[in-house]
Amino acid sequence: MDKTYRENIISYFTGVAKKHKALKYPCIVILPIVLLFYYLCRHFVTNGKRYASMAFVAIFFMSSCSFSFAVFAERTGFTSAQETYSAIVETSDISLAAVDPVTPESEALLNLEGETFATEHDDEEVEIYTLDDLLENHDHDHEGTDDMEIEPAVSREELTFDSSDWRLVLINKQHPIPEDYDFTLATITSGMRCDERVIEDLLLMTKAAQKDGLHLAIRSPYRTSDRQESNFNDRIKHYMKQGLSYIDAYKVTSQVITIPGCSEHEVGLALDITSDTYLPLLQGFAETAEGMWLEEHSCEYGFILRYPSGKEYITGIEYEPWHFRYVGREAAMIMKEENLCLEEFWDKYL
Ligand SMILES: [Zn+2]
Repeated sequence: MDKTYRENIISYFTGVAKKHKALKYPCIVILPIVLLFYYLCRHFVTNGKRYASMAFVAIFFMSSCSFSFAVFAERTGFTSAQETYSAIVETSDISLAAVDPVTPESEALLNLEGETFATEHDDEEVEIYTLDDLLENHDHDHEGTDDMEIEPAVSREELTFDSSDWRLVLINKQHPIPEDYDFTLATITSGMRCDERVIEDLLLMTKAAQKDGLHLAIRSPYRTSDRQESNFNDRIKHYMKQGLSYIDAYKVTSQVITIPGCSEHEVGLALDITSDTYLPLLQGFAETAEGMWLEEHSCEYGFILRYPSGKEYITGIEYEPWHFRYVGREAAMIMKEENLCLEEFWDKYL
């Protein structure tokens, strides 16, 4: 250190302290601080280049880290992983079929699916109706349904199927809802509707389940085409916000939500069914008592598990143990016995 400066500072403070006795102690305190400050300044000035280069390296490192994180997050949806995870599967149909090959970006999004699927319910689907609700609405219409028996099965040889039968209408990505397809909706319970021709068997099925001590919960039956379309478009926007192009967002969305005009929910023939005690639309539902009961007995009431496990490559839709489609009892029994999905049934019988 330059002695002159240090001596100047010291002599300045001692001078002040001698002149003004009252400042003696403040000077004793301030002097070391001033000296320390002087040392530090001098140190930084003499080592300026070294500190500047260290700062430059640190800033470069931090900015490149945050940039890569931002890119990584954008590409994978990492910043909103939960959102993406939930978004991947919604209560509507989940398709595995690749319409077109997807880019690595969209694959990254899909890979967040994991083994099981989260659900994202829209308003319509949050409402859940139990058997009590159903019976409240329909007991007066269907008195005596308790006593109704399942019609005796006709022998297989006598069965013929008609491709124009409304119950067998094939709806999937390759077969949109026919333009002339006609149906009438009936109310299951407030806010929930389905094809009126399905309701009686639906009631019988829920009652039979109740007799076995189970409680089915009907969810998301009829969905308007507008609703399907807005669900679909919302999802495209969601993926675009995560950085996908429109084309990629469309591809990913079409693997998660049924393309508008191609959902059985839009004609009131499909119902998502879970139980009072297992609400989410997850594959775990298959392990519940209700899930197992439905898989076994729904065909007796004309319903099929539309997207079974092991048929994904045909249906183009991921296994959905909650999605049931009405096809009528005869067809349902055959499909159950012969382990056919609706597409295979069409190939064989129609
Ligand atoms: Zn469904």
